[in-house]
Amino acid sequence: MRPMTVTERLAVNRFDTDDAESHIVVDQELCRSTGTGPILIAVCPAGVYSRRDDEIQVEYAACLECGTCLAVAARGVLTWHYPRGGCGIAFREG
Ligand code: SF4
Repeated sequence: MRPMTVTERLAVNRFDTDDAESHIVVDQELCRSTGTGPILIAVCPAGVYSRRDDEIQVEYAACLECGTCLAVAARGVLTWHYPRGGCGIAFREG
């Protein structure tokens, strides 16, 4: 039996989206002034960040809660916390 690929492992995860509140908020002005936007887009393994009309969009429902964006963002650009209880990703394959 061959081992699962990363893509296959991600596909079996369950996402329970908090429709009322994003657990990630971007300070757009600070993001622009620090040049953080392209870094967020480049590092996120889930493609959560994208650019539209000079603003960074956040598709937080796809977040893997890895914390990489928080580690690389300039201080104050992101307000990030784990999703509220019961929401977010449930990993099923390690
Ligand atoms: S925590 Fe990880 S998956 Fe979630 S937005 Fe940040 S880099 Fe992307």
